[in-house]
Amino acid sequence: MTILVQKFGGTSVGSVERIQSVAQRIALSKSQGNDLVIVVSAMGNTTNELTSLAKSISKSPPKREMDMLLSTGEQVSIALLSIALNELGVSAKSMTGSQVGIVTESSHGKARILEIKTERIKNLLEQGKIVVIAGFQGTSLGSGGTAEITTLGRGGSDTSAIALATALGADACEIYTDVPGVLTTDPRIVPNAQLMQEISCDEMLELASLGAAVLHPRAVEIARNYGIKLIVRSSWNNDPGTTLTSQNKNLISNNGLEVNKPINGAELVENQAVLGLSHIPDKPGIAADLFEMLSKGGVNVDLIIQSTHEGNSNDITFTVCENDLEKAKLLCETFIQKLGGELSTQKQMSKLSIRGAGIMGRPSIAASLFETISKAGINLRLIATSEVKVSCVIDSSMGAKALRSIIEFFKLEDNQVQINPKVVKSGEPAVRGVALDLEQTQVSVINVPDVPGSAAIICKRLADSGISLDTIIQSERKHLNGGRNISFTLNKNDRKLADQVLTHIIKNWIGSHIQDGEAIARISAVGAGMPNTPGTAAKMFRAIANAGINIEMIATSEIRTSCIVPESDGRKALQVVHNFFNLNRTTNLN
Ligand code: ASP
Ligand code: MG
Repeated sequence: MTILVQKFGGTSVGSVERIQSVAQRIALSKSQGNDLVIVVSAMGNTTNELTSLAKSISKSPPKREMDMLLSTGEQVSIALLSIALNELGVSAKSMTGSQVGIVTESSHGKARILEIKTERIKNLLEQGKIVVIAGFQGTSLGSGGTAEITTLGRGGSDTSAIALATALGADACEIYTDVPGVLTTDPRIVPNAQLMQEISCDEMLELASLGAAVLHPRAVEIARNYGIKLIVRSSWNNDPGTTLTSQNKNLISNNGLEVNKPINGAELVENQAVLGLSHIPDKPGIAADLFEMLSKGGVNVDLIIQSTHEGNSNDITFTVCENDLEKAKLLCETFIQKLGGELSTQKQMSKLSIRGAGIMGRPSIAASLFETISKAGINLRLIATSEVKVSCVIDSSMGAKALRSIIEFFKLEDNQVQINPKVVKSGEPAVRGVALDLEQTQVSVINVPDVPGSAAIICKRLADSGISLDTIIQSERKHLNGGRNISFTLNKNDRKLADQVLTHIIKNWIGSHIQDGEAIARISAVGAGMPNTPGTAAKMFRAIANAGINIEMIATSEIRTSCIVPESDGRKALQVVHNFFNLNRTTNLN
Protein backbone atom coordinates (compact mmCIF):
# COMPACT_ATOMS: atom_id res chain seq x y z
CA MET A 1 0.00 0.00 0.00
CA THR A 2 1.16 3.47 -0.78
CA ILE A 3 0.51 5.99 1.96
CA LEU A 4 0.28 9.53 0.65
CA VAL A 5 -0.16 12.67 2.71
CA GLN A 6 -1.83 15.41 0.70
CA LYS A 7 -2.13 18.94 2.00
CA PHE A 8 -4.51 21.54 0.61
CA GLY A 9 -3.88 25.19 1.44
CA GLY A 10 -6.36 27.93 2.28
CA THR A 11 -7.06 29.01 -1.32
CA SER A 12 -7.58 25.40 -2.42
CA VAL A 13 -10.39 25.01 0.13
CA GLY A 14 -11.50 28.66 -0.04
CA SER A 15 -15.13 28.04 -1.02
CA VAL A 16 -17.73 25.27 -1.10
CA GLU A 17 -17.06 24.74 -4.82
CA ARG A 18 -13.35 24.42 -4.23
CA ILE A 19 -13.85 22.01 -1.35
CA GLN A 20 -16.03 19.91 -3.67
CA SER A 21 -13.45 19.88 -6.42
CA VAL A 22 -10.67 19.03 -3.94
CA ALA A 23 -12.87 16.17 -2.72
CA GLN A 24 -13.13 14.88 -6.28
CA ARG A 25 -9.42 14.99 -6.71
CA ILE A 26 -8.94 13.08 -3.44
CA ALA A 27 -11.57 10.51 -4.43
CA LEU A 28 -9.75 9.89 -7.70
CA SER A 29 -6.43 9.40 -5.94
CA LYS A 30 -8.11 6.97 -3.52
CA SER A 31 -9.59 5.00 -6.40
CA GLN A 32 -6.04 4.60 -7.73
CA GLY A 33 -5.24 2.53 -4.67
CA ASN A 34 -3.57 5.04 -2.37
CA ASP A 35 -4.04 5.21 1.37
CA LEU A 36 -4.70 8.87 1.99
CA VAL A 37 -4.10 11.21 4.87
CA ILE A 38 -5.35 14.69 4.04
CA VAL A 39 -4.23 17.85 5.82
CA VAL A 40 -6.06 21.12 5.30
CA SER A 41 -5.61 24.78 6.18
CA ALA A 42 -8.36 27.16 7.19
CA MET A 43 -10.60 28.37 4.35
CA GLY A 44 -9.23 31.34 2.40
CA ASN A 45 -8.53 34.29 4.60
CA THR A 46 -10.03 32.84 7.78
CA THR A 47 -6.91 32.93 9.95
CA ASN A 48 -6.40 36.64 9.21
CA GLU A 49 -10.05 37.39 9.87
CA LEU A 50 -10.00 35.58 13.19
CA THR A 51 -6.83 37.43 14.15
CA SER A 52 -8.40 40.80 13.43
CA LEU A 53 -11.48 39.89 15.43
CA ALA A 54 -9.25 39.28 18.43
CA LYS A 55 -7.21 42.42 17.77
CA SER A 56 -10.37 44.49 17.67
CA ILE A 57 -10.97 43.49 21.27
CA SER A 58 -7.43 43.52 22.61
CA LYS A 59 -4.02 44.77 21.48
CA SER A 60 -2.34 41.78 23.05
CA PRO A 61 -4.77 38.91 23.44
CA PRO A 62 -3.50 36.00 25.58
CA LYS A 63 -1.58 33.56 23.41
CA ARG A 64 -3.53 30.61 24.74
CA GLU A 65 -6.80 32.19 23.65
CA MET A 66 -5.35 33.03 20.22
CA ASP A 67 -4.55 29.35 19.71
CA MET A 68 -8.04 28.42 20.85
CA LEU A 69 -9.45 30.89 18.33
CA LEU A 70 -7.20 30.27 15.32
CA SER A 71 -7.39 26.49 15.55
CA THR A 72 -11.13 26.71 14.81
CA GLY A 73 -10.37 27.77 11.24
CA GLU A 74 -8.89 24.40 10.31
CA GLN A 75 -11.68 22.61 12.16
CA VAL A 76 -14.23 24.10 9.77
CA SER A 77 -12.29 22.88 6.71
CA ILE A 78 -11.78 19.31 7.91
CA ALA A 79 -15.47 18.87 8.66
CA LEU A 80 -16.62 20.36 5.35
CA LEU A 81 -14.10 18.37 3.34
CA SER A 82 -15.10 15.15 5.07
CA ILE A 83 -18.76 15.92 4.41
CA ALA A 84 -17.92 16.50 0.74
CA LEU A 85 -15.98 13.22 0.53
CA ASN A 86 -18.73 11.21 2.16
CA GLU A 87 -21.19 12.83 -0.22
CA LEU A 88 -19.12 11.41 -3.09
CA GLY A 89 -19.46 7.99 -1.51
CA VAL A 90 -15.92 7.97 -0.15
CA SER A 91 -15.65 7.16 3.51
CA ALA A 92 -13.71 9.89 5.32
CA LYS A 93 -13.26 10.96 8.91
CA SER A 94 -12.05 14.32 10.16
CA MET A 95 -9.75 14.71 13.15
CA THR A 96 -8.30 17.64 15.06
CA GLY A 97 -4.63 17.78 15.94
CA SER A 98 -5.29 16.64 19.47
CA GLN A 99 -7.54 13.75 18.40
CA VAL A 100 -4.77 12.45 16.17
CA GLY A 101 -2.14 12.93 18.84
CA ILE A 102 0.03 15.64 17.33
CA VAL A 103 2.00 16.43 20.45
CA THR A 104 3.81 19.76 20.54
CA GLU A 105 5.83 21.93 22.86
CA SER A 106 3.77 24.15 25.08
CA SER A 107 4.76 27.51 23.57
CA HIS A 108 1.51 28.89 22.20
CA GLY A 109 1.54 30.44 18.74
CA LYS A 110 4.80 28.84 17.59
CA ALA A 111 4.86 25.32 18.99
CA ARG A 112 7.13 22.74 17.45
CA ILE A 113 5.99 19.17 16.94
CA LEU A 114 7.53 16.65 19.32
CA GLU A 115 5.71 13.49 18.41
CA ILE A 116 2.77 12.16 16.43
CA LYS A 117 0.88 9.13 17.64
CA THR A 118 -0.03 7.18 14.55
CA GLU A 119 -2.21 4.30 15.85
CA ARG A 120 -5.52 6.00 15.36
CA ILE A 121 -4.67 7.09 11.82
CA LYS A 122 -3.36 3.66 10.92
CA ASN A 123 -6.51 1.98 12.25
CA LEU A 124 -8.69 4.25 10.15
CA LEU A 125 -6.56 3.66 7.06
CA GLU A 126 -6.83 -0.07 7.61
CA GLN A 127 -10.61 0.30 7.60
CA GLY A 128 -10.25 1.91 4.17
CA LYS A 129 -11.09 5.39 5.40
CA ILE A 130 -9.55 8.65 4.34
CA VAL A 131 -8.33 10.60 7.36
CA VAL A 132 -8.76 14.37 7.12
CA ILE A 133 -6.58 16.17 9.65
CA ALA A 134 -6.56 19.79 10.78
CA GLY A 135 -3.24 21.39 9.92
CA PHE A 136 -1.45 24.08 11.94
CA GLN A 137 -2.56 22.71 15.33
CA GLY A 138 -1.54 20.25 17.96
CA THR A 139 -1.81 19.62 21.64
CA SER A 140 0.66 20.17 24.40
CA LEU A 141 0.71 18.73 27.83
CA GLY A 142 0.32 22.03 29.63
CA SER A 143 1.40 22.70 33.18
CA GLY A 144 0.00 20.07 35.53
CA GLY A 145 -0.45 17.64 32.66
CA THR A 146 -3.61 19.27 31.24
CA ALA A 147 -3.85 19.10 27.48
CA GLU A 148 -3.82 22.49 25.75
CA ILE A 149 -4.47 23.40 22.11
CA THR A 150 -1.42 24.86 20.41
CA THR A 151 -0.70 26.22 16.94
CA LEU A 152 2.52 25.91 15.00
CA GLY A 153 2.88 29.45 13.66
CA ARG A 154 1.53 31.04 10.48
CA GLY A 155 1.77 28.81 7.45
CA GLY A 156 2.18 25.83 9.76
CA SER A 157 -0.09 23.38 7.93
CA ASP A 158 2.77 22.49 5.60
CA THR A 159 4.71 21.49 8.68
CA SER A 160 1.79 19.39 9.98
CA ALA A 161 1.62 17.57 6.65
CA ILE A 162 5.29 16.68 6.36
CA ALA A 163 5.48 15.75 10.04
CA LEU A 164 2.55 13.36 9.55
CA ALA A 165 4.22 11.91 6.46
CA THR A 166 7.41 11.36 8.46
CA ALA A 167 5.67 9.75 11.43
CA LEU A 168 3.62 7.47 9.16
CA GLY A 169 6.58 6.60 6.95
CA ALA A 170 4.51 7.81 3.98
CA ASP A 171 5.77 7.42 0.42
CA ALA A 172 5.39 11.12 -0.27
CA CYS A 173 3.88 14.32 0.98
CA GLU A 174 2.12 16.39 -1.65
CA ILE A 175 1.43 20.05 -1.01
CA TYR A 176 -1.39 21.31 -3.25
CA THR A 177 -1.33 25.05 -3.64
CA ASP A 178 -2.28 27.93 -5.91
CA VAL A 179 1.10 28.14 -7.67
CA PRO A 180 2.51 25.54 -10.07
CA GLY A 181 5.54 24.78 -7.86
CA VAL A 182 8.89 26.44 -7.17
CA LEU A 183 10.21 28.79 -9.87
CA THR A 184 13.81 29.65 -10.73
CA THR A 185 13.21 33.25 -9.71
CA ASP A 186 10.51 35.85 -9.12
CA PRO A 187 8.31 35.83 -12.27
CA ARG A 188 7.13 39.39 -11.60
CA ILE A 189 10.64 40.63 -12.35
CA VAL A 190 11.85 37.92 -14.69
CA PRO A 191 8.89 36.83 -16.82
CA ASN A 192 10.74 33.84 -18.27
CA ALA A 193 11.32 32.27 -14.84
CA GLN A 194 10.91 28.52 -15.18
CA LEU A 195 9.28 25.92 -13.02
CA MET A 196 11.86 23.67 -11.37
CA GLN A 197 11.18 19.98 -11.66
CA GLU A 198 13.41 19.28 -8.73
CA ILE A 199 15.23 21.14 -5.99
CA SER A 200 17.02 19.88 -2.90
CA CYS A 201 15.72 20.90 0.50
CA ASP A 202 19.04 22.63 1.24
CA GLU A 203 18.69 24.80 -1.85
CA MET A 204 15.09 25.57 -1.03
CA LEU A 205 16.08 26.77 2.44
CA GLU A 206 18.76 29.04 1.00
CA LEU A 207 16.25 30.48 -1.42
CA ALA A 208 14.04 31.48 1.49
CA SER A 209 13.10 34.86 0.13
CA LEU A 210 11.91 33.13 -3.01
CA GLY A 211 10.56 29.94 -1.53
CA ALA A 212 9.08 30.87 1.84
CA ALA A 213 5.85 31.99 0.22
CA VAL A 214 5.53 28.56 -1.35
CA LEU A 215 6.50 26.37 1.60
CA HIS A 216 6.93 26.83 5.33
CA PRO A 217 10.71 26.58 5.98
CA ARG A 218 10.13 24.29 8.97
CA ALA A 219 8.37 21.86 6.65
CA VAL A 220 11.38 21.91 4.34
CA GLU A 221 13.67 21.22 7.26
CA ILE A 222 11.67 18.17 8.34
CA ALA A 223 11.72 16.83 4.77
CA ARG A 224 15.43 17.50 4.69
CA ASN A 225 16.19 15.69 7.94
CA TYR A 226 14.12 12.57 7.35
CA GLY A 227 14.48 12.27 3.59
CA ILE A 228 10.74 12.34 2.92
CA LYS A 229 9.78 13.15 -0.65
CA LEU A 230 7.97 16.49 -0.69
CA ILE A 231 6.08 17.64 -3.76
CA VAL A 232 4.62 21.10 -4.36
CA ARG A 233 2.02 21.22 -7.10
CA SER A 234 -1.02 23.09 -8.27
CA SER A 235 -4.49 22.22 -7.00
CA TRP A 236 -5.98 23.37 -10.30
CA ASN A 237 -4.36 20.92 -12.71
CA ASN A 238 -2.50 17.62 -12.95
CA ASP A 239 0.97 18.99 -13.62
CA PRO A 240 3.70 17.25 -11.65
CA GLY A 241 4.96 20.43 -9.92
CA THR A 242 8.31 20.55 -8.11
CA THR A 243 9.83 17.69 -6.11
CA LEU A 244 12.02 18.53 -3.11
CA THR A 245 14.71 15.99 -2.44
CA SER A 246 17.03 15.14 0.41
CA GLN A 247 19.73 12.51 0.75
CA ASN A 248 19.37 12.40 4.54
CA LYS A 249 17.62 9.51 6.21
CA ASN A 250 17.83 10.32 9.90
CA LEU A 251 15.84 8.46 12.47
CA ILE A 252 13.42 10.51 14.52
CA SER A 253 15.41 11.62 17.54
CA ASN A 254 14.30 11.18 21.13
CA ASN A 255 14.23 14.93 21.41
CA GLY A 256 11.31 15.32 19.09
CA LEU A 257 10.25 15.10 15.51
CA GLU A 258 10.95 18.72 14.77
CA VAL A 259 14.39 19.70 15.90
CA ASN A 260 13.58 21.66 18.99
CA LYS A 261 16.88 23.42 18.78
CA PRO A 262 17.47 26.11 16.22
CA ILE A 263 20.67 24.41 15.15
CA ASN A 264 20.62 21.22 13.26
CA GLY A 265 24.30 20.55 12.91
CA ALA A 266 27.86 21.84 13.14
CA GLU A 267 30.78 21.28 10.85
CA LEU A 268 34.51 21.87 11.04
CA VAL A 269 36.56 22.02 7.85
CA GLU A 270 40.31 22.08 8.39
CA ASN A 271 43.29 22.87 6.16
CA GLN A 272 41.93 26.11 4.83
CA ALA A 273 43.91 29.16 3.77
CA VAL A 274 42.77 32.77 3.63
CA LEU A 275 43.91 35.19 0.93
CA GLY A 276 43.21 38.86 1.35
CA LEU A 277 43.52 41.46 -1.38
CA SER A 278 43.15 45.01 -0.23
CA HIS A 279 43.14 48.42 -1.88
CA ILE A 280 42.15 47.10 -5.27
CA PRO A 281 40.13 49.31 -7.63
CA ASP A 282 36.37 49.51 -7.06
CA LYS A 283 34.88 49.26 -10.52
CA PRO A 284 32.70 46.80 -12.42
CA GLY A 285 34.53 43.69 -13.56
CA ILE A 286 37.31 43.45 -10.98
CA ALA A 287 35.81 40.57 -9.03
CA ALA A 288 34.86 38.85 -12.28
CA ASP A 289 38.45 39.17 -13.60
CA LEU A 290 40.00 37.92 -10.38
CA PHE A 291 37.82 34.86 -9.92
CA GLU A 292 37.83 33.95 -13.60
CA MET A 293 41.61 33.97 -13.47
CA LEU A 294 41.62 31.77 -10.37
CA SER A 295 39.15 29.33 -11.83
CA LYS A 296 41.10 29.09 -15.10
CA GLY A 297 44.19 28.46 -12.99
CA GLY A 298 42.42 25.50 -11.38
CA VAL A 299 41.87 27.04 -7.97
CA ASN A 300 38.56 26.17 -6.33
CA VAL A 301 37.51 29.05 -4.12
CA ASP A 302 35.26 28.48 -1.14
CA LEU A 303 34.14 31.59 0.77
CA ILE A 304 34.38 34.98 -0.89
CA ILE A 305 33.90 38.22 0.92
CA GLN A 306 34.18 41.69 -0.54
CA SER A 307 33.50 45.06 0.92
CA THR A 308 34.05 48.55 -0.35
CA HIS A 309 35.96 51.15 1.59
CA GLU A 310 36.59 54.83 1.67
CA GLY A 311 34.74 55.36 -1.55
CA ASN A 312 36.92 53.94 -4.23
CA SER A 313 38.85 50.87 -3.27
CA ASN A 314 37.87 47.32 -2.49
CA ASP A 315 39.03 44.53 -0.28
CA ILE A 316 38.36 40.98 -1.37
CA THR A 317 39.06 38.07 0.91
CA PHE A 318 38.56 34.43 0.02
CA THR A 319 39.40 30.98 1.26
CA VAL A 320 40.86 28.04 -0.59
CA CYS A 321 41.96 24.59 0.40
CA GLU A 322 45.55 24.76 1.73
CA ASN A 323 46.81 22.67 -1.19
CA ASP A 324 45.73 25.40 -3.58
CA LEU A 325 47.35 28.23 -1.63
CA GLU A 326 50.64 28.52 -3.55
CA LYS A 327 48.90 28.45 -6.90
CA ALA A 328 46.36 31.05 -5.79
CA LYS A 329 49.08 33.24 -4.32
CA LEU A 330 51.05 33.36 -7.57
CA LEU A 331 47.96 34.24 -9.55
CA CYS A 332 47.00 36.99 -7.12
CA GLU A 333 50.48 38.45 -7.20
CA THR A 334 50.27 38.87 -10.98
CA PHE A 335 46.83 40.37 -10.53
CA ILE A 336 47.95 43.09 -8.12
CA GLN A 337 51.07 43.82 -10.13
CA LYS A 338 48.73 44.98 -12.88
CA LEU A 339 46.05 46.64 -10.80
CA GLY A 340 47.75 47.68 -7.60
CA GLY A 341 46.76 46.62 -4.11
CA GLU A 342 48.23 44.41 -1.43
CA LEU A 343 48.09 40.70 -0.79
CA SER A 344 48.14 38.87 2.50
CA THR A 345 47.87 35.15 3.04
CA GLN A 346 47.32 32.93 6.03
CA LYS A 347 47.62 29.18 6.30
CA GLN A 348 46.34 26.73 8.87
CA MET A 349 42.87 28.07 9.15
CA SER A 350 39.65 26.19 9.81
CA LYS A 351 36.07 26.91 8.90
CA LEU A 352 33.49 26.29 11.58
CA SER A 353 29.82 26.35 10.60
CA ILE A 354 26.46 25.86 12.19
CA ARG A 355 23.31 25.20 10.20
CA GLY A 356 19.56 24.90 10.69
CA ALA A 357 16.29 26.43 9.55
CA GLY A 358 15.98 27.89 13.06
CA ILE A 359 18.68 30.43 12.18
CA MET A 360 16.22 32.12 9.86
CA GLY A 361 14.79 35.22 11.48
CA ARG A 362 16.52 34.52 14.80
CA PRO A 363 19.39 36.94 15.13
CA SER A 364 20.39 35.56 18.49
CA ILE A 365 21.77 32.37 16.94
CA ALA A 366 24.63 33.91 14.97
CA ALA A 367 25.27 36.16 17.96
CA SER A 368 25.54 33.12 20.26
CA LEU A 369 27.98 31.47 17.88
CA PHE A 370 30.26 34.49 17.85
CA GLU A 371 29.90 34.97 21.57
CA THR A 372 30.66 31.34 22.39
CA ILE A 373 33.77 31.46 20.25
CA SER A 374 34.98 34.75 21.64
CA LYS A 375 34.39 33.58 25.21
CA ALA A 376 36.75 30.72 24.42
CA GLY A 377 39.32 33.45 23.61
CA ILE A 378 39.30 32.75 19.87
CA ASN A 379 39.49 35.52 17.27
CA LEU A 380 37.20 35.44 14.23
CA ARG A 381 39.15 35.91 11.02
CA LEU A 382 36.18 35.84 8.66
CA ILE A 383 32.43 35.59 9.01
CA ALA A 384 30.06 34.31 6.37
CA THR A 385 26.30 34.03 6.75
CA SER A 386 23.48 32.72 4.64
CA GLU A 387 19.82 32.03 5.37
CA VAL A 388 20.37 28.79 7.20
CA LYS A 389 24.09 28.70 7.85
CA VAL A 390 26.65 30.79 9.71
CA SER A 391 30.34 30.12 9.21
CA CYS A 392 33.45 31.63 10.64
CA VAL A 393 37.07 31.12 9.84
CA ILE A 394 39.43 30.75 12.77
CA ASP A 395 42.96 29.64 13.50
CA SER A 396 43.29 25.85 13.06
CA SER A 397 44.92 25.39 16.43
CA MET A 398 41.68 26.64 17.96
CA GLY A 399 39.40 24.48 15.82
CA ALA A 400 38.81 21.61 18.22
CA LYS A 401 38.29 23.91 21.16
CA ALA A 402 35.83 26.08 19.23
CA LEU A 403 33.90 23.04 18.01
CA ARG A 404 33.66 21.67 21.54
CA SER A 405 32.24 24.88 22.90
CA ILE A 406 29.72 25.07 20.07
CA ILE A 407 28.58 21.47 20.63
CA GLU A 408 28.15 22.22 24.30
CA PHE A 409 26.38 25.52 23.82
CA PHE A 410 23.92 24.29 21.21
CA LYS A 411 23.62 20.85 22.88
CA LEU A 412 24.32 18.97 19.68
CA GLU A 413 24.30 15.20 19.47
CA ASP A 414 27.23 13.25 17.99
CA ASN A 415 25.44 12.51 14.74
CA GLN A 416 24.91 16.24 14.20
CA VAL A 417 28.61 17.03 14.11
CA GLN A 418 30.87 16.54 11.12
CA ILE A 419 34.59 17.06 10.78
CA ASN A 420 36.00 17.49 7.28
CA PRO A 421 32.93 16.08 5.52
CA LYS A 422 33.57 14.74 2.04
CA VAL A 423 32.21 16.81 -0.80
CA VAL A 424 30.44 14.35 -3.05
CA LYS A 425 30.07 15.11 -6.71
CA SER A 426 26.35 15.26 -7.03
CA GLY A 427 25.78 16.26 -10.64
CA GLU A 428 23.57 19.03 -9.34
CA PRO A 429 23.45 22.32 -11.24
CA ALA A 430 25.75 25.02 -9.90
CA VAL A 431 22.89 27.47 -9.88
CA ARG A 432 19.33 26.31 -9.45
CA GLY A 433 17.59 29.55 -8.68
CA VAL A 434 18.19 33.24 -8.10
CA ALA A 435 16.50 35.45 -5.52
CA LEU A 436 16.34 39.21 -5.07
CA ASP A 437 15.94 40.93 -1.74
CA LEU A 438 15.12 44.62 -1.78
CA GLU A 439 14.41 44.94 1.91
CA GLN A 440 17.99 45.30 3.06
CA THR A 441 20.15 48.29 3.77
CA GLN A 442 23.85 48.50 4.52
CA VAL A 443 25.56 49.80 7.65
CA SER A 444 29.27 49.75 8.59
CA VAL A 445 30.94 50.18 11.91
CA ILE A 446 34.33 51.68 11.18
CA ASN A 447 37.37 50.88 13.30
CA VAL A 448 36.14 48.09 15.52
CA PRO A 449 38.79 46.77 17.96
CA ASP A 450 40.32 43.59 16.48
CA VAL A 451 40.02 41.50 19.62
CA PRO A 452 37.87 38.47 20.38
CA GLY A 453 34.35 39.56 21.12
CA SER A 454 33.87 42.72 19.06
CA ALA A 455 31.76 41.12 16.33
CA ALA A 456 29.95 39.17 19.00
CA ILE A 457 29.03 42.33 20.90
CA ILE A 458 27.62 43.99 17.80
CA CYS A 459 25.58 40.95 16.82
CA LYS A 460 24.45 40.22 20.36
CA ARG A 461 23.25 43.73 21.15
CA LEU A 462 21.43 44.04 17.84
CA ALA A 463 19.94 40.58 18.34
CA ASP A 464 18.76 41.56 21.82
CA SER A 465 16.83 44.37 20.16
CA GLY A 466 15.33 41.87 17.73
CA ILE A 467 17.42 42.95 14.74
CA SER A 468 18.64 40.31 12.29
CA LEU A 469 21.89 40.92 10.50
CA ASP A 470 22.20 39.47 7.11
CA THR A 471 25.43 39.64 5.17
CA ILE A 472 28.08 40.31 7.81
CA ILE A 473 31.55 41.21 6.62
CA GLN A 474 34.68 41.90 8.59
CA SER A 475 37.16 43.99 6.64
CA GLU A 476 40.53 42.90 5.50
CA ARG A 477 41.93 46.33 6.00
CA LYS A 478 43.20 47.47 9.36
CA HIS A 479 43.25 50.96 10.77
CA LEU A 480 46.43 52.38 12.30
CA ASN A 481 45.36 51.22 15.76
CA GLY A 482 44.68 47.71 14.45
CA GLY A 483 40.89 48.11 14.25
CA ARG A 484 38.83 46.62 11.44
CA ASN A 485 35.52 47.60 9.87
CA ILE A 486 32.46 45.43 10.21
CA SER A 487 29.78 45.90 7.58
CA PHE A 488 26.44 44.22 7.43
CA THR A 489 23.06 44.44 5.85
CA LEU A 490 19.86 44.54 7.81
CA ASN A 491 16.19 45.10 7.17
CA LYS A 492 15.39 48.70 6.23
CA ASN A 493 12.79 48.94 8.97
CA ASP A 494 15.40 48.17 11.62
CA ARG A 495 17.87 50.82 10.58
CA LYS A 496 16.85 53.54 13.02
CA LEU A 497 16.86 51.22 15.97
CA ALA A 498 20.17 49.73 14.82
CA ASP A 499 21.74 53.19 14.74
CA GLN A 500 20.72 53.75 18.35
CA VAL A 501 22.09 50.41 19.50
CA LEU A 502 25.35 50.87 17.61
CA THR A 503 25.88 54.41 18.84
CA HIS A 504 25.69 53.05 22.33
CA ILE A 505 28.21 50.27 21.68
CA ILE A 506 30.86 52.40 19.99
CA LYS A 507 30.96 54.89 22.85
CA ASN A 508 33.60 52.62 24.36
CA TRP A 509 35.57 52.18 21.16
CA ILE A 510 38.01 55.00 20.53
CA GLY A 511 38.06 56.26 16.94
CA SER A 512 35.08 54.21 15.91
CA HIS A 513 32.07 55.54 14.01
CA ILE A 514 29.01 54.38 12.08
CA GLN A 515 28.73 54.79 8.35
CA ASP A 516 25.40 54.33 6.62
CA GLY A 517 25.58 52.79 3.18
CA GLU A 518 23.56 53.47 0.06
CA ALA A 519 20.23 51.80 -0.65
CA ILE A 520 21.05 48.32 -1.82
CA ALA A 521 19.68 45.15 -3.35
CA ARG A 522 20.93 41.65 -2.71
CA ILE A 523 21.00 39.03 -5.43
CA SER A 524 21.60 35.46 -4.33
CA ALA A 525 22.34 32.53 -6.60
CA VAL A 526 21.83 29.12 -5.05
CA GLY A 527 22.82 25.66 -6.26
CA ALA A 528 23.87 22.40 -4.63
CA GLY A 529 26.47 21.89 -7.35
CA MET A 530 28.20 25.17 -6.50
CA PRO A 531 30.98 23.68 -4.33
CA ASN A 532 31.91 21.25 -7.11
CA THR A 533 31.78 23.73 -9.95
CA PRO A 534 34.79 26.02 -9.87
CA GLY A 535 34.12 29.36 -11.48
CA THR A 536 30.45 29.70 -10.57
CA ALA A 537 30.95 32.82 -8.49
CA ALA A 538 33.17 34.27 -11.26
CA LYS A 539 30.34 33.68 -13.72
CA MET A 540 27.88 35.52 -11.53
CA PHE A 541 30.27 38.48 -11.12
CA ARG A 542 30.82 38.51 -14.90
CA ALA A 543 27.10 38.62 -15.60
CA ILE A 544 26.74 41.60 -13.30
CA ALA A 545 29.85 43.33 -14.67
CA ASN A 546 28.67 42.86 -18.26
CA ALA A 547 25.57 44.83 -17.34
CA GLY A 548 27.84 47.65 -16.12
CA ILE A 549 26.73 47.18 -12.51
CA ASN A 550 29.19 47.68 -9.66
CA ILE A 551 29.25 45.10 -6.87
CA GLU A 552 29.43 46.67 -3.43
CA MET A 553 29.65 43.58 -1.30
CA ILE A 554 30.05 39.89 -1.91
CA ALA A 555 29.30 37.17 0.57
CA THR A 556 29.24 33.50 -0.20
CA SER A 557 28.28 30.43 1.71
CA GLU A 558 28.64 26.83 0.58
CA ILE A 559 25.78 26.69 -1.90
CA ARG A 560 24.95 30.38 -2.16
CA THR A 561 26.69 33.41 -3.64
CA SER A 562 25.21 36.80 -2.82
CA CYS A 563 26.13 40.13 -4.33
CA ILE A 564 25.05 43.47 -2.99
CA VAL A 565 24.49 46.06 -5.70
CA PRO A 566 22.96 49.55 -5.72
CA GLU A 567 19.21 49.27 -5.20
CA SER A 568 18.40 50.83 -8.57
CA ASP A 569 20.34 48.04 -10.31
CA GLY A 570 18.73 45.17 -8.39
CA ARG A 571 16.07 44.07 -10.84
CA LYS A 572 18.43 44.32 -13.78
CA ALA A 573 21.08 42.32 -11.94
CA LEU A 574 18.52 39.61 -11.15
CA GLN A 575 17.55 39.35 -14.81
CA VAL A 576 21.10 39.17 -16.12
CA VAL A 577 22.22 36.58 -13.58
CA HIS A 578 19.14 34.46 -14.25
CA ASN A 579 19.79 34.52 -17.97
CA PHE A 580 23.56 34.10 -17.71
CA PHE A 581 23.05 30.76 -16.00
CA ASN A 582 20.49 29.75 -18.65
CA LEU A 583 17.75 29.43 -16.08
CA ASN A 584 15.34 30.84 -18.65
CA ARG A 585 15.50 27.52 -20.48
CA THR A 586 13.56 24.55 -19.25
CA THR A 587 16.58 22.26 -19.03
CA ASN A 588 19.45 24.36 -17.81
CA LEU A 589 22.97 23.14 -18.37
CA ASN A 590 25.04 25.60 -16.35
N1 ASP B 1 -4.24 28.74 8.57
C1 ASP B 1 -2.90 28.95 9.02
C2 ASP B 1 -2.36 30.26 8.46
O1 ASP B 1 -3.04 30.91 7.69
C3 ASP B 1 -2.01 27.81 8.69
C4 ASP B 1 -1.76 27.58 7.21
O2 ASP B 1 -2.49 28.05 6.37
O3 ASP B 1 -0.79 26.91 6.90
O4 ASP B 1 -1.28 30.63 8.77
MG1 MG C 1 0.79 28.21 3.08
